Amino acid sequence: MLAGMDRIVIVGAGQGAAQCVEGLRRRGYGGELTVIGDEPVLPYQRPPLSKKYLAGELPVERMLLRHEAFYAEQRVAMRTGRRVMRIDRDSRRLHLDDGAVQDYDALVMATGSRPRSLPLEGVDAPGVHVLRTMADADALRVEAAAGKHAVIIGGGYIGLETAATLRQLGMEVTVLEAADRVMNRVVAEPVSAYYHHEHTHHGVTIRCGARVNGLRTDANGRIAAVLTDAGEVLADLLVVGVGVVPNDELAREAGLDCDNGILVDERCRTADPLIYAIGDCSNHPSMHYGRRVRLESVDNAFEQAATVAANLAGVDTVHNRVPWFWSDQYHHKLLIVGLAAGHDRVVLRGEPASHSFSCCYLREGELIAIDTVNNAKDQMAARKLIAARFRPDPAKLADASIALKDCGG
Ligand SMILES: Cc1cc2nc3c(=O)[nH]c(=O)nc-3n(C[C@H](O)[C@H](O)[C@H](O)COP(=O)(O)OP(=O)(O)OC[C@H]3O[C@@H](n4cnc5c(N)ncnc54)[C@H](O)[C@@H]3O)c2cc1C
Repeated sequence: MLAGMDRIVIVGAGQGAAQCVEGLRRRGYGGELTVIGDEPVLPYQRPPLSKKYLAGELPVERMLLRHEAFYAEQRVAMRTGRRVMRIDRDSRRLHLDDGAVQDYDALVMATGSRPRSLPLEGVDAPGVHVLRTMADADALRVEAAAGKHAVIIGGGYIGLETAATLRQLGMEVTVLEAADRVMNRVVAEPVSAYYHHEHTHHGVTIRCGARVNGLRTDANGRIAAVLTDAGEVLADLLVVGVGVVPNDELAREAGLDCDNGILVDERCRTADPLIYAIGDCSNHPSMHYGRRVRLESVDNAFEQAATVAANLAGVDTVHNRVPWFWSDQYHHKLLIVGLAAGHDRVVLRGEPASHSFSCCYLREGELIAIDTVNNAKDQMAARKLIAARFRPDPAKLADASIALKDCGG
Protein backbone atom coordinates (compact mmCIF):
# COMPACT_ATOMS: atom_id res chain seq x y z
CA MET A 1 0.00 0.00 0.00
CA LEU A 2 1.28 3.49 -0.81
CA ALA A 3 2.45 5.43 2.23
CA GLY A 4 0.18 8.22 3.46
CA MET A 5 -2.96 6.88 1.74
CA ASP A 6 -5.00 6.42 4.89
CA ARG A 7 -8.21 7.84 3.45
CA ILE A 8 -9.37 7.09 -0.08
CA VAL A 9 -12.57 8.77 -1.22
CA ILE A 10 -14.51 7.94 -4.38
CA VAL A 11 -16.87 10.58 -5.79
CA GLY A 12 -19.84 9.02 -7.59
CA ALA A 13 -21.41 5.71 -6.57
CA GLY A 14 -21.89 3.99 -9.93
CA GLN A 15 -20.39 1.11 -11.86
CA GLY A 16 -16.77 2.29 -11.61
CA ALA A 17 -16.95 3.15 -7.91
CA ALA A 18 -18.26 -0.29 -6.91
CA GLN A 19 -15.49 -2.00 -8.82
CA CYS A 20 -12.82 0.29 -7.39
CA VAL A 21 -13.92 -0.50 -3.84
CA GLU A 22 -13.73 -4.23 -4.54
CA GLY A 23 -10.35 -3.91 -6.21
CA LEU A 24 -8.86 -1.90 -3.37
CA ARG A 25 -9.93 -4.35 -0.69
CA ARG A 26 -8.93 -7.35 -2.83
CA ARG A 27 -5.48 -5.84 -3.14
CA GLY A 28 -5.26 -5.50 0.61
CA TYR A 29 -5.93 -1.79 1.04
CA GLY A 30 -6.81 -1.55 4.71
CA GLY A 31 -7.35 2.20 5.12
CA GLU A 32 -10.54 4.25 5.32
CA LEU A 33 -12.69 3.95 2.23
CA THR A 34 -15.60 6.31 1.53
CA VAL A 35 -17.92 6.50 -1.47
CA ILE A 36 -20.09 9.58 -1.94
CA GLY A 37 -22.88 9.36 -4.51
CA ASP A 38 -25.82 11.63 -5.25
CA GLU A 39 -28.28 8.87 -6.18
CA PRO A 40 -30.26 7.49 -3.22
CA VAL A 41 -29.32 3.85 -3.99
CA LEU A 42 -26.21 1.70 -3.66
CA PRO A 43 -24.23 1.23 -6.91
CA TYR A 44 -26.24 -0.74 -9.46
CA GLN A 45 -25.90 -2.06 -13.00
CA ARG A 46 -26.90 0.66 -15.42
CA PRO A 47 -27.32 -1.34 -18.68
CA PRO A 48 -30.63 -3.03 -17.66
CA LEU A 49 -32.22 0.42 -17.26
CA SER A 50 -33.12 0.41 -20.95
CA LYS A 51 -33.63 -3.36 -21.09
CA LYS A 52 -34.86 -5.81 -18.43
CA TYR A 53 -35.33 -3.29 -15.62
CA LEU A 54 -37.43 -1.01 -17.81
CA ALA A 55 -39.40 -4.06 -18.90
CA GLY A 56 -40.12 -4.80 -15.23
CA GLU A 57 -38.22 -8.10 -15.40
CA LEU A 58 -35.47 -7.30 -12.86
CA PRO A 59 -36.21 -6.28 -9.27
CA VAL A 60 -34.10 -3.58 -7.61
CA GLU A 61 -32.23 -6.12 -5.43
CA ARG A 62 -30.90 -7.82 -8.55
CA MET A 63 -29.77 -4.50 -10.00
CA LEU A 64 -27.40 -3.82 -7.11
CA LEU A 65 -23.76 -4.63 -7.82
CA ARG A 66 -23.23 -5.47 -4.13
CA HIS A 67 -25.57 -5.50 -1.18
CA GLU A 68 -25.34 -3.41 1.97
CA ALA A 69 -23.76 -6.30 3.91
CA PHE A 70 -20.80 -6.38 1.53
CA TYR A 71 -19.94 -2.72 2.10
CA ALA A 72 -20.38 -3.15 5.85
CA GLU A 73 -18.12 -6.21 5.88
CA GLN A 74 -15.53 -4.43 3.78
CA ARG A 75 -15.73 -1.35 6.03
CA VAL A 76 -16.74 0.99 3.23
CA ALA A 77 -18.66 4.11 4.23
CA MET A 78 -21.36 4.48 1.58
CA ARG A 79 -22.69 8.03 1.67
CA THR A 80 -25.53 7.79 -0.85
CA GLY A 81 -27.94 10.63 -1.57
CA ARG A 82 -25.11 13.14 -1.06
CA ARG A 83 -23.55 15.34 -3.71
CA VAL A 84 -19.99 16.65 -3.70
CA MET A 85 -20.14 20.36 -4.49
CA ARG A 86 -16.49 21.37 -4.37
CA ILE A 87 -13.00 19.93 -4.16
CA ASP A 88 -10.45 21.91 -2.20
CA ARG A 89 -7.18 20.44 -3.40
CA ASP A 90 -4.96 22.53 -1.09
CA SER A 91 -6.57 21.19 2.06
CA ARG A 92 -7.53 17.83 0.40
CA ARG A 93 -11.10 18.31 1.41
CA LEU A 94 -14.48 17.78 -0.24
CA HIS A 95 -17.50 19.95 0.47
CA LEU A 96 -20.87 18.18 0.34
CA ASP A 97 -24.36 19.50 -0.38
CA ASP A 98 -25.41 19.08 3.27
CA GLY A 99 -22.55 21.29 4.46
CA ALA A 100 -20.45 18.32 5.60
CA VAL A 101 -16.79 18.03 4.69
CA GLN A 102 -14.80 14.92 3.86
CA ASP A 103 -11.01 14.80 3.95
CA TYR A 104 -9.02 12.62 1.59
CA ASP A 105 -5.47 11.45 0.98
CA ALA A 106 -6.37 10.13 -2.47
CA LEU A 107 -9.44 10.90 -4.51
CA VAL A 108 -11.07 8.90 -7.31
CA MET A 109 -13.48 10.77 -9.56
CA ALA A 110 -16.14 8.35 -10.84
CA THR A 111 -18.88 10.85 -11.61
CA GLY A 112 -20.04 9.31 -14.90
CA SER A 113 -21.95 11.25 -17.50
CA ARG A 114 -25.42 12.70 -17.91
CA PRO A 115 -27.85 12.86 -20.83
CA ARG A 116 -27.26 15.67 -23.27
CA SER A 117 -30.32 17.88 -23.32
CA LEU A 118 -32.06 19.34 -26.34
CA PRO A 119 -32.16 23.13 -26.58
CA LEU A 120 -35.91 23.13 -27.17
CA GLU A 121 -38.74 24.78 -25.31
CA GLY A 122 -40.88 22.13 -23.61
CA VAL A 123 -38.02 19.75 -22.94
CA ASP A 124 -38.81 19.89 -19.21
CA ALA A 125 -42.54 19.28 -19.71
CA PRO A 126 -44.25 16.32 -18.03
CA GLY A 127 -44.03 13.28 -20.29
CA VAL A 128 -40.51 14.09 -21.50
CA HIS A 129 -37.94 11.56 -20.27
CA VAL A 130 -34.25 10.79 -20.32
CA LEU A 131 -32.72 7.50 -19.26
CA ARG A 132 -29.66 7.52 -17.06
CA THR A 133 -30.71 6.55 -13.56
CA MET A 134 -32.99 4.07 -11.86
CA ALA A 135 -35.27 7.00 -11.02
CA ASP A 136 -35.44 7.90 -14.74
CA ALA A 137 -36.37 4.31 -15.64
CA ASP A 138 -39.01 4.17 -12.88
CA ALA A 139 -40.57 7.41 -14.12
CA LEU A 140 -40.65 6.14 -17.70
CA ARG A 141 -42.11 2.77 -16.72
CA VAL A 142 -44.96 4.43 -14.81
CA GLU A 143 -46.02 6.20 -18.02
CA ALA A 144 -45.37 3.35 -20.44
CA ALA A 145 -48.84 2.05 -21.21
CA ALA A 146 -49.82 -0.35 -23.96
CA GLY A 147 -51.43 1.34 -26.94
CA LYS A 148 -49.98 4.77 -26.17
CA HIS A 149 -47.48 6.40 -28.48
CA ALA A 150 -43.86 6.86 -27.43
CA VAL A 151 -41.58 9.03 -29.53
CA ILE A 152 -37.85 8.60 -29.09
CA ILE A 153 -35.46 11.26 -30.30
CA GLY A 154 -32.15 9.57 -31.12
CA GLY A 155 -31.51 6.26 -32.83
CA GLY A 156 -28.34 5.36 -30.93
CA TYR A 157 -27.93 2.42 -28.55
CA ILE A 158 -30.05 3.82 -25.78
CA GLY A 159 -32.79 5.11 -28.05
CA LEU A 160 -33.07 1.77 -29.85
CA GLU A 161 -32.87 -0.38 -26.72
CA THR A 162 -35.61 1.77 -25.20
CA ALA A 163 -37.65 1.48 -28.40
CA ALA A 164 -37.39 -2.33 -28.27
CA THR A 165 -38.44 -2.46 -24.62
CA LEU A 166 -41.34 -0.03 -24.96
CA ARG A 167 -42.53 -1.97 -27.98
CA GLN A 168 -42.39 -5.17 -25.93
CA LEU A 169 -44.55 -3.37 -23.36
CA GLY A 170 -47.13 -2.86 -26.10
CA MET A 171 -46.51 0.79 -26.92
CA GLU A 172 -46.60 2.30 -30.38
CA VAL A 173 -43.06 3.57 -30.92
CA THR A 174 -41.53 6.07 -33.35
CA VAL A 175 -37.79 6.74 -33.41
CA LEU A 176 -36.62 10.05 -34.90
CA GLU A 177 -32.97 9.95 -35.96
CA ALA A 178 -31.23 12.99 -37.45
CA ALA A 179 -28.59 11.00 -39.36
CA ASP A 180 -29.33 8.93 -42.44
CA ARG A 181 -29.06 5.65 -40.51
CA VAL A 182 -29.47 4.40 -36.93
CA MET A 183 -26.41 3.94 -34.67
CA ASN A 184 -24.40 5.70 -37.41
CA ARG A 185 -21.74 6.84 -34.93
CA VAL A 186 -20.97 3.35 -33.65
CA VAL A 187 -21.62 0.62 -36.22
CA ALA A 188 -21.06 -0.10 -39.92
CA GLU A 189 -23.81 0.39 -42.48
CA PRO A 190 -24.87 -3.29 -42.74
CA VAL A 191 -25.39 -3.40 -38.95
CA SER A 192 -27.48 -0.21 -39.05
CA ALA A 193 -29.54 -1.68 -41.88
CA TYR A 194 -30.02 -4.93 -39.96
CA TYR A 195 -31.26 -3.19 -36.81
CA HIS A 196 -33.46 -0.81 -38.80
CA HIS A 197 -35.08 -3.83 -40.39
CA GLU A 198 -35.47 -5.70 -37.08
CA HIS A 199 -37.12 -2.72 -35.41
CA THR A 200 -39.46 -2.22 -38.34
CA HIS A 201 -40.25 -5.93 -38.26
CA HIS A 202 -41.25 -5.56 -34.58
CA GLY A 203 -43.54 -2.66 -35.45
CA VAL A 204 -41.32 0.32 -34.55
CA THR A 205 -41.43 3.25 -36.96
CA ILE A 206 -37.98 4.66 -37.65
CA ARG A 207 -37.55 7.97 -39.42
CA CYS A 208 -33.99 8.75 -40.39
CA GLY A 209 -32.94 12.21 -41.54
CA ALA A 210 -35.59 13.60 -39.14
CA ARG A 211 -34.91 17.18 -38.13
CA VAL A 212 -36.60 17.98 -34.84
CA ASN A 213 -37.24 21.70 -34.49
CA GLY A 214 -39.73 21.98 -31.66
CA LEU A 215 -42.00 20.35 -29.10
CA ARG A 216 -45.70 21.01 -28.60
CA THR A 217 -47.39 20.69 -25.24
CA ASP A 218 -51.11 20.38 -24.52
CA ALA A 219 -53.36 22.68 -22.47
CA ASN A 220 -52.05 21.05 -19.27
CA GLY A 221 -48.45 21.64 -20.29
CA ARG A 222 -47.79 17.96 -21.03
CA ILE A 223 -45.87 16.83 -24.10
CA ALA A 224 -48.24 16.34 -27.02
CA ALA A 225 -46.12 16.28 -30.17
CA VAL A 226 -42.66 16.57 -31.65
CA LEU A 227 -42.31 19.03 -34.51
CA THR A 228 -40.08 18.01 -37.40
CA ASP A 229 -39.32 19.41 -40.85
CA ALA A 230 -41.59 16.70 -42.23
CA GLY A 231 -44.48 17.60 -39.91
CA GLU A 232 -45.80 16.85 -36.44
CA VAL A 233 -45.44 13.47 -34.68
CA LEU A 234 -48.01 12.99 -31.91
CA ALA A 235 -46.52 11.78 -28.64
CA ASP A 236 -48.04 10.52 -25.38
CA LEU A 237 -44.52 10.46 -24.06
CA LEU A 238 -41.12 11.43 -25.35
CA VAL A 239 -37.71 9.94 -24.61
CA VAL A 240 -34.69 12.06 -25.48
CA GLY A 241 -31.66 9.88 -26.16
CA VAL A 242 -29.16 12.10 -27.94
CA GLY A 243 -25.95 11.12 -26.19
CA VAL A 244 -24.28 12.08 -22.93
CA VAL A 245 -21.84 14.66 -21.64
CA PRO A 246 -19.20 13.84 -19.02
CA ASN A 247 -19.68 15.06 -15.45
CA ASP A 248 -16.33 16.84 -15.32
CA GLU A 249 -17.35 20.22 -13.91
CA LEU A 250 -16.30 19.41 -10.35
CA ALA A 251 -12.78 18.56 -11.54
CA ARG A 252 -12.68 21.55 -13.88
CA GLU A 253 -13.67 23.93 -11.08
CA ALA A 254 -10.89 22.41 -8.97
CA GLY A 255 -8.40 23.42 -11.68
CA LEU A 256 -7.88 19.98 -13.24
CA ASP A 257 -7.51 19.85 -17.02
CA CYS A 258 -10.63 18.68 -18.82
CA ASP A 259 -11.41 18.29 -22.50
CA ASN A 260 -14.44 16.10 -23.15
CA GLY A 261 -13.82 14.51 -19.73
CA ILE A 262 -11.18 14.71 -17.04
CA LEU A 263 -7.76 14.27 -18.60
CA VAL A 264 -5.83 11.37 -17.10
CA ASP A 265 -2.68 9.45 -18.01
CA GLU A 266 -2.40 5.72 -18.71
CA ARG A 267 -2.55 5.07 -14.95
CA CYS A 268 -5.87 6.99 -14.84
CA ARG A 269 -4.17 9.73 -12.82
CA THR A 270 -4.82 13.44 -13.36
CA ALA A 271 -2.09 16.07 -13.24
CA ASP A 272 -2.70 16.09 -9.45
CA PRO A 273 -0.96 12.88 -8.30
CA LEU A 274 -3.56 12.42 -5.56
CA ILE A 275 -6.54 12.50 -7.91
CA TYR A 276 -7.61 9.79 -10.38
CA ALA A 277 -10.59 9.65 -12.75
CA ILE A 278 -12.32 6.56 -14.13
CA GLY A 279 -15.24 5.59 -16.34
CA ASP A 280 -17.47 7.85 -18.40
CA CYS A 281 -16.06 11.05 -16.86
CA SER A 282 -12.44 10.33 -17.76
CA ASN A 283 -10.55 10.93 -20.96
CA HIS A 284 -7.50 8.69 -21.29
CA PRO A 285 -4.74 7.95 -23.77
CA SER A 286 -5.50 4.69 -25.56
CA MET A 287 -2.14 2.97 -25.91
CA HIS A 288 -3.46 0.68 -28.63
CA TYR A 289 -4.97 3.41 -30.82
CA GLY A 290 -2.44 6.13 -30.02
CA ARG A 291 -4.98 8.85 -29.23
CA ARG A 292 -7.11 10.14 -26.39
CA VAL A 293 -10.54 8.62 -25.94
CA ARG A 294 -13.49 8.94 -23.62
CA LEU A 295 -15.45 5.71 -23.49
CA GLU A 296 -18.95 5.02 -22.25
CA SER A 297 -19.04 1.35 -21.32
CA VAL A 298 -19.18 -0.89 -18.30
CA ASP A 299 -16.01 -2.68 -19.37
CA ASN A 300 -14.09 0.60 -19.46
CA ALA A 301 -15.39 1.73 -16.06
CA PHE A 302 -14.49 -1.66 -14.52
CA GLU A 303 -11.05 -1.86 -16.09
CA GLN A 304 -10.11 1.69 -15.18
CA ALA A 305 -11.34 1.03 -11.65
CA ALA A 306 -9.09 -2.03 -11.46
CA THR A 307 -6.14 0.03 -12.75
CA VAL A 308 -6.65 2.71 -10.11
CA ALA A 309 -7.13 0.14 -7.34
CA ALA A 310 -3.83 -1.49 -8.30
CA ASN A 311 -1.94 1.80 -8.43
CA LEU A 312 -3.36 2.99 -5.11
CA ALA A 313 -2.39 -0.34 -3.60
CA GLY A 314 1.17 0.31 -4.76
CA VAL A 315 1.23 -1.96 -7.82
CA ASP A 316 2.27 0.10 -10.82
CA THR A 317 -0.34 -0.68 -13.52
CA VAL A 318 -1.26 0.90 -16.84
CA HIS A 319 -4.65 0.80 -18.51
CA ASN A 320 -4.07 -0.81 -21.90
CA ARG A 321 -7.11 -2.48 -23.28
CA VAL A 322 -8.96 -2.96 -26.52
CA PRO A 323 -12.40 -1.69 -25.53
CA TRP A 324 -15.64 -3.52 -26.09
CA PHE A 325 -19.30 -2.61 -25.88
CA TRP A 326 -22.57 -4.47 -26.12
CA SER A 327 -26.18 -3.71 -26.85
CA ASP A 328 -29.18 -6.01 -26.45
CA GLN A 329 -32.20 -5.27 -28.62
CA TYR A 330 -35.02 -7.83 -28.78
CA HIS A 331 -33.16 -11.16 -28.65
CA HIS A 332 -30.21 -9.89 -30.70
CA LYS A 333 -26.74 -9.44 -29.24
CA LEU A 334 -24.62 -6.71 -30.73
CA LEU A 335 -21.01 -6.77 -29.56
CA ILE A 336 -18.48 -4.25 -30.72
CA VAL A 337 -14.77 -4.75 -30.12
CA GLY A 338 -12.27 -1.98 -30.71
CA LEU A 339 -12.64 1.52 -32.10
CA ALA A 340 -13.48 1.92 -35.77
CA ALA A 341 -12.51 5.58 -36.25
CA GLY A 342 -9.91 5.98 -38.98
CA HIS A 343 -10.77 2.74 -40.83
CA ASP A 344 -10.32 2.66 -44.60
CA ARG A 345 -12.20 -0.56 -45.34
CA VAL A 346 -15.12 -2.57 -43.98
CA VAL A 347 -15.43 -6.28 -44.75
CA LEU A 348 -18.74 -8.05 -44.20
CA ARG A 349 -18.51 -11.61 -42.83
CA GLY A 350 -21.65 -13.68 -43.20
CA GLU A 351 -25.14 -12.82 -44.31
CA PRO A 352 -27.29 -10.38 -42.30
CA ALA A 353 -30.31 -12.44 -43.40
CA SER A 354 -28.89 -15.36 -41.40
CA HIS A 355 -29.09 -13.17 -38.25
CA SER A 356 -25.44 -13.89 -37.46
CA PHE A 357 -22.71 -11.81 -39.10
CA SER A 358 -19.85 -9.39 -38.48
CA CYS A 359 -18.37 -6.25 -39.99
CA CYS A 360 -14.59 -6.01 -39.77
CA TYR A 361 -12.89 -2.63 -39.91
CA LEU A 362 -9.41 -2.43 -41.41
CA ARG A 363 -6.90 0.40 -41.39
CA GLU A 364 -3.96 -0.04 -43.73
CA GLY A 365 -4.56 -3.78 -43.60
CA GLU A 366 -4.77 -4.06 -39.79
CA LEU A 367 -7.96 -5.24 -38.06
CA ILE A 368 -8.85 -2.34 -35.74
CA ALA A 369 -12.45 -3.11 -34.79
CA ILE A 370 -15.35 -5.45 -35.41
CA ASP A 371 -19.12 -5.27 -35.01
CA THR A 372 -20.62 -8.69 -34.36
CA VAL A 373 -24.32 -9.52 -34.47
CA ASN A 374 -25.28 -12.76 -32.71
CA ASN A 375 -21.76 -13.99 -33.45
CA ALA A 376 -19.99 -14.86 -30.22
CA LYS A 377 -17.22 -16.78 -31.99
CA ASP A 378 -15.95 -13.76 -33.91
CA GLN A 379 -16.37 -11.54 -30.89
CA MET A 380 -14.28 -13.77 -28.64
CA ALA A 381 -11.49 -14.16 -31.17
CA ALA A 382 -11.46 -10.47 -32.10
CA ARG A 383 -10.26 -9.12 -28.75
CA LYS A 384 -6.97 -11.01 -28.93
CA LEU A 385 -6.51 -10.49 -32.64
CA ILE A 386 -7.05 -6.74 -32.49
CA ALA A 387 -4.70 -6.45 -29.51
CA ALA A 388 -2.09 -8.41 -31.51
CA ARG A 389 -2.52 -6.04 -34.51
CA PHE A 390 -3.78 -8.86 -36.73
CA ARG A 391 -3.47 -8.30 -40.49
CA PRO A 392 -6.13 -10.46 -42.17
CA ASP A 393 -6.48 -11.32 -45.81
CA PRO A 394 -9.71 -9.47 -46.80
CA ALA A 395 -10.76 -12.30 -49.13
CA LYS A 396 -10.53 -14.88 -46.34
CA LEU A 397 -12.19 -12.46 -43.94
CA ALA A 398 -15.20 -12.22 -46.26
CA ASP A 399 -15.60 -16.01 -46.07
CA ALA A 400 -17.50 -16.65 -42.84
CA SER A 401 -16.73 -20.37 -43.02
CA ILE A 402 -13.08 -19.57 -42.18
CA ALA A 403 -12.52 -18.93 -38.47
CA LEU A 404 -11.46 -15.32 -37.79
CA LYS A 405 -8.12 -16.42 -36.34
CA ASP A 406 -7.37 -18.37 -39.54
CA CYS A 407 -7.90 -15.34 -41.78
CA GLY A 408 -4.27 -14.17 -41.66
CA GLY A 409 -2.82 -12.79 -44.89
C1 LIG B 1 -29.75 3.15 -20.10
C2 LIG B 1 -28.30 2.79 -20.22
C3 LIG B 1 -27.94 1.61 -20.86
C4 LIG B 1 -26.59 1.26 -20.98
N1 LIG B 1 -26.27 0.09 -21.59
C5 LIG B 1 -24.97 -0.28 -21.67
C6 LIG B 1 -24.61 -1.54 -22.24
O1 LIG B 1 -25.46 -2.30 -22.71
N2 LIG B 1 -23.29 -1.88 -22.26
C7 LIG B 1 -22.32 -1.06 -21.75
O2 LIG B 1 -21.12 -1.41 -21.78
N3 LIG B 1 -22.64 0.15 -21.22
C8 LIG B 1 -23.93 0.55 -21.16
N4 LIG B 1 -24.26 1.75 -20.61
C9 LIG B 1 -23.16 2.65 -20.18
C10 LIG B 1 -22.66 2.29 -18.81
O3 LIG B 1 -23.72 2.11 -17.93
C11 LIG B 1 -21.71 3.39 -18.32
O4 LIG B 1 -20.62 3.47 -19.23
C12 LIG B 1 -21.21 3.12 -16.90
O5 LIG B 1 -22.28 3.16 -15.98
C13 LIG B 1 -20.14 4.12 -16.51
O6 LIG B 1 -19.81 3.94 -15.16
P1 LIG B 1 -19.28 5.17 -14.28
O7 LIG B 1 -18.90 4.62 -12.96
O8 LIG B 1 -18.29 5.94 -15.06
O9 LIG B 1 -20.55 6.14 -14.14
P2 LIG B 1 -21.98 5.87 -13.55
O10 LIG B 1 -22.30 4.43 -13.46
O11 LIG B 1 -22.90 6.74 -14.34
O12 LIG B 1 -21.88 6.45 -12.07
C14 LIG B 1 -21.62 7.81 -11.80
C15 LIG B 1 -22.36 8.22 -10.54
O13 LIG B 1 -21.81 9.43 -10.03
C16 LIG B 1 -22.86 10.26 -9.59
N5 LIG B 1 -22.36 11.65 -9.47
C17 LIG B 1 -22.08 12.52 -10.47
N6 LIG B 1 -21.62 13.69 -9.96
C18 LIG B 1 -21.61 13.55 -8.61
C19 LIG B 1 -21.26 14.41 -7.53
N7 LIG B 1 -20.80 15.65 -7.75
N8 LIG B 1 -21.38 13.95 -6.27
C20 LIG B 1 -21.83 12.69 -6.03
N9 LIG B 1 -22.19 11.83 -7.02
C21 LIG B 1 -22.08 12.26 -8.29
C22 LIG B 1 -23.90 10.03 -10.66
O14 LIG B 1 -25.18 10.47 -10.27
C23 LIG B 1 -23.84 8.50 -10.79
O15 LIG B 1 -24.62 7.88 -9.82
C24 LIG B 1 -25.59 2.12 -20.47
C25 LIG B 1 -25.95 3.32 -19.83
C26 LIG B 1 -27.29 3.65 -19.72
C27 LIG B 1 -27.67 4.94 -19.04
